[in-house]
Amino acid sequence: MKILITGAAGFIGSHLCDLLIKEGHDVIGMDNFITGSPDNLAHLSGNSKFTFILHDVANFIFVPEKVDAVLHFASPASPNPDSPYGFPNLPIQTMKAGALGTHNTLGVARANNARYILASTSEIYGDPAEHPQKETYWGNVDPNGLRSVYDEAKRFAEALTMAYHRYHNINTGIVRIFNTYGPRMRLDDGRAVPNFLQQALRKEPLTVYGDGEQTRSFCYIDDLIAGIIKLLYSEIHEPVNIGNPQEITIKELALKINALFDNPAGVVFLRNKVAGKDPDRRQPDISRAKEHLNWSPSIDLTEGLRRTIPYFQEKMREEH
Ligand code: NAD
Ligand code: UDP
Repeated sequence: MKILITGAAGFIGSHLCDLLIKEGHDVIGMDNFITGSPDNLAHLSGNSKFTFILHDVANFIFVPEKVDAVLHFASPASPNPDSPYGFPNLPIQTMKAGALGTHNTLGVARANNARYILASTSEIYGDPAEHPQKETYWGNVDPNGLRSVYDEAKRFAEALTMAYHRYHNINTGIVRIFNTYGPRMRLDDGRAVPNFLQQALRKEPLTVYGDGEQTRSFCYIDDLIAGIIKLLYSEIHEPVNIGNPQEITIKELALKINALFDNPAGVVFLRNKVAGKDPDRRQPDISRAKEHLNWSPSIDLTEGLRRTIPYFQEKMREEH
């Protein structure tokens, strides 16, 4: 297949490019580098199976060749207002990537009669009142709070994707991605894993926001990518959760990372810094992915962190 991937220079997008090229496909990557980096694609330069288009997906998208699939992954993704790359500091760009970017990429899929995959998120469940979260849960989202620029853009994107499926009969799919980590995460995007890994490497205290009793369920990047590829090859139109159900409190995550590094500095509890209401609990119900995609994650948190650490060590060395 020839596949267009938006957000190709980002954390998830760049791993998708790698695996799809490895599977024999031709990939066109598109990005405007607002939160991504050319470094994530440097190893593909000169690869005949990869071309890159520098473009903002909020503007009309022209693709010079016929494509068989479109994967729309372009969007800022970190909720931390302390980082210039967090969506609270890119509110309009975030809404445009989710709304106009989804419209434009669906247009490309329609013009090419291509399979379409939207990168949605567990954030569409908001601060969930149901636990764990099944795809049938409608969510608990503040429509105009500080997080809404991300959450509501993704909810709109899901609605538009289903409209293109129902009205134009486009072969669409929606992946609801839960917290994912691994090499190529931006070190300074303010998310928990990159913050904690860097702090532990510097032997500083880990900054736990709030009381640290809030939970997340962290999925290693390779597991996520395997699930997305299975969804791409399927004809499933309903949203599918892809994430690792191994739930952990943020305090436990910090203690685990400190233990991996023998970091004596411990943790420091800070006033919660994230935008809006920090969701209390998050855990995917992955029955649908298991049943329809025969997918489940295989890399646990300890192993995933071990595989992630060398990247952070290398990047921090480069910075000095
Ligand atoms: P990222 O910031 O590393 O990657 C996003 C990429 O999109 C960046 O390269 C950025 O430059 C690009 N981009 C943003 N706006 C653009 C625009 N208007 N035009 C062109 N390119 C643009 O983030 P990520 O973690 O790789 O997230 C990728 C996708 O997955 C996003 O859609 C995000 O919402 C979704 N997602 C990620 C997670 C996670 O845990 N990482 C969880 C849920 C959903
Ligand atoms: N968090 C934290 N310290 C940090 C960064 C994040 O305690 O330095 C918390 C944050 O408040 C949230 C959790 O870790 O409860 C996960 O945050 P992240 O930004 O990684 O993802 P999201 O909130 O989107 O799940």
